[in-house]
Amino acid sequence: MNNGIEELYQELIIDHARKPKNFGSLVNPSHHAQGHNPLCGDIIELDLKIEHDTVQDVAFHGDGCAISKASASLMTEIIRGKSLDFVQTMFHDFHALMTHDGFDKDLGKLSVLKGVRQFPMRVKCATLCWHTLHAAIANKANGVTTE
Ligand code: ZN
Repeated sequence: MNNGIEELYQELIIDHARKPKNFGSLVNPSHHAQGHNPLCGDIIELDLKIEHDTVQDVAFHGDGCAISKASASLMTEIIRGKSLDFVQTMFHDFHALMTHDGFDKDLGKLSVLKGVRQFPMRVKCATLCWHTLHAAIANKANGVTTE
């Protein structure tokens, strides 16, 4: 890995934070949850439309730091159109990516967030959207907090 690649990754993160994909809300979501990371102040509202065990549509809004927004933006891109089995596997793989130094499975675009694991405080920013997704699918509408 050279610095050029690292810079590219950071650019992608900044790009997603500035212009998040799937930012907004759904008209008739089948699932919804709110996530809160009090350490940083990140808040995310996640709407999902799940039919036939597949994520048909997804949108998020809220307020937070660049990492939390970029992570949520990337997550919505990854899970849209995917099965709940895929989402569950990705949830565990992403958590491993964020917490285990030895984990180097290629998670596609999500791998750009790998550098975050050197900063434990920021790991919660990156994983907030995934915990919120998990809560939404489990129908815990009252939401989750990282604390
Ligand atoms: Zn944050």
